[in-house]
Amino acid sequence: MSGHTELQTGQQVGERYAASLMNTFGPPKLTLVRGEGAHVWDADGKEYVDLLGGIAVNALGHAHPALVAAVTDQLSTLGHISNFFTSVPQVELAEKLVALVGAGPGKVFLANSGAEANEAAFKMTRRTGRTHVVVAEGGFHGRTMGALALTSKAAYREPFEPLPGDVTFVPYGDVDALREAVTETTAAILLEPIQGEAGVVMAPAGYLRAARALADESGALLWLDEVQTGMGRTGDWFAHAGHVVPDILTLAKGLGGGYPIGAVVGLGRAADLLEPGNHGTTFGGSPVACAAALAVIRTIEEDGLLEHVRRAGERLREGLAADARVTEVRGEGLLIGLDLVSETAAAVVEAAQRAGFIVNMPTPSRIRLAPPLVLTDADIESFLTAWPTILDEAGT
Ligand SMILES: *Cc1c(COP(=O)(O)O)cnc(C)c1O
Repeated sequence: MSGHTELQTGQQVGERYAASLMNTFGPPKLTLVRGEGAHVWDADGKEYVDLLGGIAVNALGHAHPALVAAVTDQLSTLGHISNFFTSVPQVELAEKLVALVGAGPGKVFLANSGAEANEAAFKMTRRTGRTHVVVAEGGFHGRTMGALALTSKAAYREPFEPLPGDVTFVPYGDVDALREAVTETTAAILLEPIQGEAGVVMAPAGYLRAARALADESGALLWLDEVQTGMGRTGDWFAHAGHVVPDILTLAKGLGGGYPIGAVVGLGRAADLLEPGNHGTTFGGSPVACAAALAVIRTIEEDGLLEHVRRAGERLREGLAADARVTEVRGEGLLIGLDLVSETAAAVVEAAQRAGFIVNMPTPSRIRLAPPLVLTDADIESFLTAWPTILDEAGT
């Protein structure tokens, strides 16, 4: 069949998608063909400012030369080797992640996704000799059976029960509920510093510190899932920075800038919970994925992107909040959630798309932005200029 090499309209590709891909995501909104910086183009030639960034993944935007060069060079030198062997990029990335956390010695397990990083961390918690995990309601930790066991949303869980057990869900941000749930048999407390999938829900001041104290009192591990919030997204390397030091940190989304990679950082006693034979992965820690992550980190450092992210986020939040139909704007850096006065988020997503902007709706009244960290000031201003009209068109 030669059809796949011919030019196709978005509608034609969409029809072939429906016939050939499992319907796990609903119909795709667009067929995208290329990207550059924070811009993408669809099969019909229309250009968009990508304010979702592959859901907080495309840290350097699309086709960033540093990422392209790192992946291309590594793939043309040594692409995959199995975990019987190591490579310099693998060791350099592990060292770099521990250094960025900046909380003393630690060790890293490399995986391929957020769910896989959380699976590995979940298994680490079992190696404490305890099984009980306390998790926040509204959190999202992935779709594999273990990660799902830690995710509260009934619609995601119920079709797949029974899931691994001994998990207690508590309301996010409620210190008293956490205190009640955590006991001397608790292996870990698992929290996102900001709940991304819930629509960018912030931890109240002092919540992470209280969780840290409860973990210390009970001998539990504090496990922070920074799959979405980590790697510069919030204008800091990690959202927990300056608040607490976790025992376990899970990372993925932005880490490889679009090249699949996940990581677990274990600090202190958590560094040595996994022993030979406990866990593994064929692809995790491949030289190419590690080279990609190192290129992302180097570019964030060399281009001063953390500072840019803080400034860009402030401007976006301030501009979005200026419209009275926005009742609340939350977030840190370039992870932004806002509440609309009405349940028109789906219409806002569509109106934005027609206007050439990609945004996301985590709930019927919430919009989330997680654009590339390289989003330019010009892109921000063009979106803020279009924003009131997008809300008009959506009937918000
Ligand atoms: C996206 C996400 C995951 C799951 O990552 P996948 O790569 O989709 O498996 C886990 N935790 C958080 C906080 C996430 O945002």
